[in-house]
Amino acid sequence: MKSIRVHQFGEPDVLKVEDIPDPVAGPGQIAVGLCAIGVNPVETYIRKGIAGPAQFPYTPGTDGAGIVESIGDGVTRAKPGDRVYLSGSVSGTYAQRALCLEKHVFRLPDNISFAQGAAVGVPYVTAYRAVLVRGSAKPGQTVFIHGASGGVGLAAVQIARAAGCTVIGTAGTEAGRKLVREQGAHDVLDHSASDYLKQLMDLTAGAGVNVIIEMLANVNLAKDLTIVAKFGQIVVVGSRGPIEINPRDGMTREADIHTMRVFNAPDGELQSYNAALVAGLENGTLRPIIRTELPLSAAPKAHELVMQSGACGKIVLVP
Ligand code: NAP
Repeated sequence: MKSIRVHQFGEPDVLKVEDIPDPVAGPGQIAVGLCAIGVNPVETYIRKGIAGPAQFPYTPGTDGAGIVESIGDGVTRAKPGDRVYLSGSVSGTYAQRALCLEKHVFRLPDNISFAQGAAVGVPYVTAYRAVLVRGSAKPGQTVFIHGASGGVGLAAVQIARAAGCTVIGTAGTEAGRKLVREQGAHDVLDHSASDYLKQLMDLTAGAGVNVIIEMLANVNLAKDLTIVAKFGQIVVVGSRGPIEINPRDGMTREADIHTMRVFNAPDGELQSYNAALVAGLENGTLRPIIRTELPLSAAPKAHELVMQSGACGKIVLVP
């Protein structure tokens, strides 16, 4: 089968298409024929060597969707022919097939395309954990999605809206802001405008927001501490460098700063989050948005694109 293989850390051109043997499902394993693969920023950090060690050669990726081809002994959760999405794998997902454990595989509802299924794993699990678990957002509260136009941001908008929150999102482009509004934000601001935080405070009549889901903490965390409501929660989802903050801004409000990493979610919780996500996909409250579909061989281009501003949903590879 065709697979992207990485033999050394480096720029996107280290993502090479190679022919490797098809995976074989051992006991407790499931082999999935992939129809779409989700591209996440973390895969660029791993490729560059800034997100921990790697064992070379490796196949990147944890997200994808497709059809179960074969199952190993003891597998009860899926059977050949099932439509599934993946939230993790043993072999990596930038390939025509992926080897998974039972816990990685979830039923893909019929109303959700494979491309949309490939957009669920990291983005929706992250958004669910950020908004409802780490951020403890409650119905009636105001949730500010600081960076709402990307894979995680749009998922967070849909999840917070479905939970009965007032949702305010930001995006850096007109197209992104239109999309964020269409996906359920009550108000949308431009995080590149000089006065957008004043606009935010005006929208909340000066009270600030109860929960902030932060996609770029190295730029925004100090500002977040000035716009969070009293006893509010800030959840750091994304950060690409250091930042200086004034703790007194948080103390005044008795605000909490939470960090999170999706891969830290315990297995039992992951199963629970995905059960909620499948229900939301089925009933239409969760609708993954695909920005573009590229062939597997364009993985280097996908890695460039995912790190550029102007997000409008998810980048997906088609093997
Ligand atoms: P993405 O699809 O590339 O989206 C990036 C988002 O960041 C876009 O909405 C973008 O808006 C926004 N952004 C750009 N400049 C910003 C600014 N100054 N203030 C606020 N937002 C800004 O990426 P993603 O998959 O949604 O992931 C978002 C971030 O979370 C990434 O840094 C990623 O590494 C991280 N992440 C962390 C976890 C975790 O477990 N902690 C899991 C998944 C993702 P415009 O393009 O419209 O400007």
